[in-house]
Formats: sequence, structure tokens, C-alpha cells
Amino acid sequence: MVPPVIVWFRDDLRLSDHPALTAAAASGRPLLAAHVRETGLGAAADWWLGRSLRALTRDLAALGVPLVRRSGDPAVILPTLAAEMGADTIHWNRRIDPAGETRDQAVAERCRERGLTHVVHRGSHLFDPETTLNANGTPPKVFTPFWRRRLAGPEPEAPLPAPTTLAPHSGALPASDPEPSEPAWAAGLAEAWTPGEAAARERLTAFLDEGAPGYSARRDRVDIDGTSRLSPRLRFGELSPRQVWRAARTRATADPTSAPGIEAFLRQIGWREFCLTLLHHHPHLVDRPLDPRFERFPWVDDPDAFAAWTEGRTGYPLVDAGMRQLWRTGWMHNRARMVAASFLVKDLLIPWTKGAAWFADTLVDHDPALNAANWQWVAGCGADAAPFFRIFNPTTQAIGFDPQGAYAEKYLTFEVGPPDRYEPRPTPPIVDHRAARLRALAALETTSRTPR
Ligand SMILES: Cc1cc2nc3c(=O)[nH]c(=O)nc-3n(C[C@H](O)[C@H](O)[C@H](O)COP(=O)(O)OP(=O)(O)OC[C@H]3O[C@@H](n4cnc5c(N)ncnc54)[C@H](O)[C@@H]3O)c2cc1C
Repeated sequence: MVPPVIVWFRDDLRLSDHPALTAAAASGRPLLAAHVRETGLGAAADWWLGRSLRALTRDLAALGVPLVRRSGDPAVILPTLAAEMGADTIHWNRRIDPAGETRDQAVAERCRERGLTHVVHRGSHLFDPETTLNANGTPPKVFTPFWRRRLAGPEPEAPLPAPTTLAPHSGALPASDPEPSEPAWAAGLAEAWTPGEAAARERLTAFLDEGAPGYSARRDRVDIDGTSRLSPRLRFGELSPRQVWRAARTRATADPTSAPGIEAFLRQIGWREFCLTLLHHHPHLVDRPLDPRFERFPWVDDPDAFAAWTEGRTGYPLVDAGMRQLWRTGWMHNRARMVAASFLVKDLLIPWTKGAAWFADTLVDHDPALNAANWQWVAGCGADAAPFFRIFNPTTQAIGFDPQGAYAEKYLTFEVGPPDRYEPRPTPPIVDHRAARLRALAALETTSRTPR
């Protein structure tokens, strides 16, 4: 019997532009797909993963390939599965986050011990982090030169097509773990999203047709569906960044009027790469400030204020609407994320790590690199960060980016209308923004007295 080949699926839940799958298919040997559910995923992201795996299972089954689903340590599970099935080779796509890399190494080590061949491919990032160092060999810390260098370099390679035929596995099927049941609170998520590769591709096409031309002008408006909403798709690899890149560039060439919007959109894809690169080079990005002066920042422990923030009860409509959008749909508009995050760390002086942990549990698109880098950016302690002393005023932000109050109206249960629709209500605001701003600036003084 020809020994089967295992493809280990990770943050790459798709059939197209999947280098590990393509290479395994090219071997002509029977295929077995495997996914190992690991611990540590937030609740909303875990919901997305479950649904996306269902879609992947269907897509693979249509080509005769079973997806074996297990939970635990991949370094134990994959070699055991290979032994059960008589497989001698495992293919996977590389991850560049420190936790993923450590896991890669552990699985590779175990494969070597067991005499299994393992083949690692490039997966869910555009540029290998080794190629993104500054000219002097240090890791990048400023976005614009990072992105300029990327744009001046070679174009990312063309995405691979999905295999149309795969050699199906014919022997007895190994057992999969039972699917975990979905929590009742996930009803709002199911209403808002259809995870899976097919829906991801549809969304990309719809965005390039309808959203991309006006993206620059509309991307900051919280009341408009002006962004791609591709973040959970990219997070779980239902789309690869190469596919997004190529489709967007092709569209800009075919329709030059859409080019400025597409360029602005690709710049955000660039920010994603920048965040992934940052975490790769700074594994402590997730729990320690990149700017060491902030190690001594006088954060406040205020459980009541934190609870009000998580529940959208601060009394500031833009913050509260954002937090309720997050709770209901597992996603929040980027502008609302910035304002809500700023409110937590600057108006309430609550550590950014607490806010990041809440986002980690509630965002369907939660990504350790993007989440930590953006929280640090807002808190003023990250790479290329907004300075701490620039403090968003949640009321003027609402006037600018939700001019009719439609976003607030949609997500808040109380009536928001003229003449004072931007004023905090109906609960009194938990802090007075002007006083909170002065308190934050005084707290900042502490860090500037601390030697670097
Ligand atoms: C405090 C805070 C926490 C965040 N946490 C996450 C997170 O855990 N996961 C996540 O995917 N995004 C995070 N973001 C970034 C951003 O808010 C989302 O990527 C974006 O809102 C997703 O919507 P979209 O797909 O419609 O974005 P679009 O505007 O259509 O952008 C396209 C893609 O570019 C990337 N992108 C966009 N904005 C950023 C950014 N600021 N930084 C890095 N990449 C970006 C995303 O992959 C996004 O899907 C965070 C932002 C803030 C301020």
C-alpha cells in the first residue's frame, strides 16, 4: 500500500493558495488532512474556528479527503496519527508568531525522532520576517520605511490555484474528536458571519467591486460598511494575503479609478504584515510595553470602571456602541476600536493589557500580533505609536465619524437624537473627559521622570 501523506491545517483554513496542500497533492499519494485544536483561543475566535473547520471539512470531503480533527499538543498528536495511518510525511505552512514557531520546532523535532519527513512551506504572511530587517540588520520599528521597502521589492508571488483532484484516502478513517457545542451567546455572531473559504472569496470580490473605490474616504466612518471586513478571514487563513494582494492589484489595473482606494486598502494589509513582523522580533509585545518607560506607568485598578467599559456603559455613545457591537457581532470598526481603547487607557488609566485580554476573548478576528501592536499603538508605548499625550475626545470623534449618530443608534438601546445626540447619556458618564484628560497627562509625567 502507498503510504498516505498528512497535511496539517493551522491558520490556513482554505484549499486555494495553500502551498502545503499543493505540494502534498503533487506527490500523487493518498491524502489525509489534520487539524489540531490548541488551547488559548478566545471564545469568539473559537466559535469562528469551529464554523470554519466545518466548511473546510465539506470542501475537502468534496475532493474525497477526510479532515481528522483532534485536540491537544500537535507534537504528540501528529506523529501518533502518522503511526496510526502508516503515513511517513507531514506537510504544513509556516507560522511566524513566536508561539507558532515554537510549536513548529517541537513537531519537527518529534518527526525527526520518529523518522518522519516534514516539509514546511510559506503560509499566511506575505514576507518572511528574515527579509524585513532594516538596512543595518535591526528589526523594523517604524511602519512607513518598512512599507516603502516592501513596495520597492519584488511583488509577492502569484497565489496557487486550489487542487481540482486529490488522491483520496482509502483505508479506515482515524477517529476525530467530537465537535464542541456552540454557546448560546454566539447567536449574534452566527447572524453576522458565514465563516469558510467560499464566503471569504465572495466577500473579497464584493469589497473590490463596491467598497474599494471609496475606501479612503469611507474607511473611518463607523456608520458605513466602508471597510472589507476581511479580518477574521485573514486571521484564520480562509484567504491568504497573497490572494488579497493579487486580486486588489489586478482590480486597480483594470479600473484605474479604484487605484487610490486600493492603495489605501493594501497599506492596511501592510500594517498587518508590520504587526506580524513586530511580534516575530519582539515576543514580549503581547505583555510588555515596547517603550520601557511605560513599565513604570501608574495604572489604576478600577474593576467597576472596567466592567462599565466591557458592557458599553461608560456614558459615551461612540465607546459604548463600539463595545456593544463587539459583544453582539464579535467585530468592531477600527475607528471605534481606537476610541474605545484610548478611553480605557487614557480616560480610565486601566492597563492596555486588560483591554487587550478582553478583545482577545471577544473578537472573532483576534490575532495576538495585531491586537497587541494596536493596543500598544493606542497606549503610546508601541512601535511607531500615537503619542500618549494625544488623547481622543470621544465626543468629537463621534461627531466626526458618526455624524448622524446612526452607529450609536444601532448599537445602543436608548434613543440618540438631536439636539444633544453626541452628549453622553442616558447614564451619566463614568468620568468627565476633560478632568480625565488632565489626570492622564499628569500620569504621563511619571514616565518621563523615569530614566530610559
Ligand atoms: C485596539 C485595537 C485592537 C485591534 N485588534 C485586532 C485584532 O486582534 N485582529 C485584527 O485583525 N485586527 C485588529 N485591529 C486592527 C483593525 O481594527 C482591524 O484589522 C480592522 O478593523 C478589521 O476590519 P476590516 O477587515 O474591515 O479592515 P480593512 O480596513 O478592510 O483592512 C484590511 C485588512 O488590513 C488589516 N488591518 C486593518 N487595520 C489594521 C491595523 N490597524 N493594524 C494591523 N492590520 C490592520 C486587517 O487584516 C484587515 O482585515 C485592532 C485595532 C485596534 C485599534
